[in-house]
Amino acid sequence: MTSLNTTLCFCSSGHNYADCCEPLHLSVKQADTPEQLMRSRFSAYVIKNAKYVYQTYAKEKQAENPVKEINDFANSCRFINLDLIDSSHDGDTGTVEFKAQYFYQNLFCELHEKSLFIKENTQWRYLDGTIYPVEDIKVGRNDDCPCGSNKKYKKCHSM
Ligand SMILES: [Zn+2]
Ligand SMILES: [Zn+2]
Repeated sequence: MTSLNTTLCFCSSGHNYADCCEPLHLSVKQADTPEQLMRSRFSAYVIKNAKYVYQTYAKEKQAENPVKEINDFANSCRFINLDLIDSSHDGDTGTVEFKAQYFYQNLFCELHEKSLFIKENTQWRYLDGTIYPVEDIKVGRNDDCPCGSNKKYKKCHSM
């Protein structure tokens, strides 16, 4: 259980996973803010912890987001980065605006969303979100990889 201790967290926070999203994934700790919950859900997608993503949906949304579908989506994407743009909360509701970059097949995609979070039984949960349209970029094998590595796509994030 020590191998991940110095791994940088998958939510792009710059903190170690062990000090960031891991305690939330292990249910040792609850998210204090919608932003923390959002980060932990993104990390969970990256490490394909579909159960965590499912459990952090608001109750009313769980039926329409089965673990299997979350798992299929997580497995079909290569996640690159998360940018937190804005977050706020007041009482039992909060919002987080973010951009998440990932590859889906040979497309470089960006999800730009303003998410809505609510507190259920004192725990922050994801309710739904407004998605801002961003055009997917088709990536050719000899193109520079859009992840910023300065490598060719075929030597980097290509499947
Ligand atoms: Zn994290
Ligand atoms: Zn790349």
